[in-house]
Amino acid sequence: MEARLRALLPGGTFSGVAAERSRRMAAVRGKGNYTTEVRARAMLVAAGFRGWCMHPTDVDGRPDFYFPLERLAIFIDGCFWHGCPRCGHVPKTNSVFWAAKIARNRARDRNVVRALRRQDIAVLRIWEHDARDPAWVHQVGAIRCAPARRGGSPRRTARSQA
Ligand SMILES: [Zn+2]
Repeated sequence: MEARLRALLPGGTFSGVAAERSRRMAAVRGKGNYTTEVRARAMLVAAGFRGWCMHPTDVDGRPDFYFPLERLAIFIDGCFWHGCPRCGHVPKTNSVFWAAKIARNRARDRNVVRALRRQDIAVLRIWEHDARDPAWVHQVGAIRCAPARRGGSPRRTARSQA
């Protein structure tokens, strides 16, 4: 944990949080959780999509799914970590710390979207709560079926409904 965020915790630690909860929070990765991702992956496979990869290190933000030919990056955003307006909440304990951390994640999300759009890569961000319903996969199909974006055609960023 970086110093700037740690400074927001009383005594610089999670002393006020039960150890079990602290461990559990630490175990959840910043980008959605494992189960959501595995399920989302299964939905893409079931819908017949091919040619994508996961967490490519050479694409900004390391999207959860990336279609190199279509230049489409998909992020499944964890509702807690990315501050979902519907189900995100700031824990009462160490709320200043969590609010800062979530705000930082959201700022980073915006920067990643900007960077990808500059590279003419379409971005689809799906809230974790929407990713549970296979309907989000239709959005992938709609973007992939659209005309190629190379050569100055409109850039898009889609976001699932909150
Ligand atoms: Zn949500």
